[in-house]
Amino acid sequence: MLRYKEIFTGSQCNNKCLYCLYRRKESPQPDVKSVTSALKQGEEDGVALYGGEPTLRKDLVDIIHTARQNGYRRIKLVTNGQVFSEHQVLHRIVTAGCRLFEIKLWGSHPELHDHLTQSPQSFWQTIQGIENLQRLTLDRFICLRIPLCRQNYNDVINIITTGINLRVHRIILSYQDHNLAFGELIPRIYSGIQVSILNRVWVLTEGLPFCVMQGLEHHISEIYYRHDNAMSLRTYKQHKYCRHCIYQEICPGIISDYLTQFGHGEFRPVKGNKYIQDLRVLNC
Ligand code: SF4
Repeated sequence: MLRYKEIFTGSQCNNKCLYCLYRRKESPQPDVKSVTSALKQGEEDGVALYGGEPTLRKDLVDIIHTARQNGYRRIKLVTNGQVFSEHQVLHRIVTAGCRLFEIKLWGSHPELHDHLTQSPQSFWQTIQGIENLQRLTLDRFICLRIPLCRQNYNDVINIITTGINLRVHRIILSYQDHNLAFGELIPRIYSGIQVSILNRVWVLTEGLPFCVMQGLEHHISEIYYRHDNAMSLRTYKQHKYCRHCIYQEICPGIISDYLTQFGHGEFRPVKGNKYIQDLRVLNC
């Protein structure tokens, strides 16, 4: 189980993504003192900086330095990657000690991506940013974070293929839109995982319960990462049948807004899986 301390760097952003909850939730940018004091090391050995858009902070390099000095082994930036289209900015961030990047891509083409980010040119800046990261000779790990919603789930295979062509190291399929029914989404998720595996790119899901991912449980990120859900601003809830499910101890449940929208009729408790002990061990 990997544990990241999730640090919010402020809601300022160069995009206005339709599904960004921080865009609607006005909050003052935490000053450098409160960010660095949050960086005092606890039991986590990694830190994830997220916003808004963390790369817009002028003191980001200082924050990364502090994280390094405080002994964090993994420093991750969750970002739209647009500023990496400028070599100098990218170089400063990487040199400061950040080598882990989760970059959000909403669509496989500018019309869709820029529509969802509400920001013209954002698609090409993100693609350029990933290409610049790939050209670095330093060790770095690039993860493509694909937020899934009603507008883009039909494009998911193409977005995954875009990531594979950009030679990303991992892909996360992150459920973002509680109005998108799992019944519509899951067949695309299954195909997307197959495409990714065939191309030897590891793929994980986020926000999808075990009972809708049967046979692909080892792709559920919640097994490997302890999320405090601060990053997604979402709450999860188990429903009344969960107490009969073998995953009850390790499953966070369903996004509460989803249950409000669709009810719990589609979920059935899982009675058995021969790998349940292995999944429990991974989750420790
Ligand atoms: S605990 Fe509940 S939500 Fe989680 S997999 Fe089981 S039935 Fe689904």
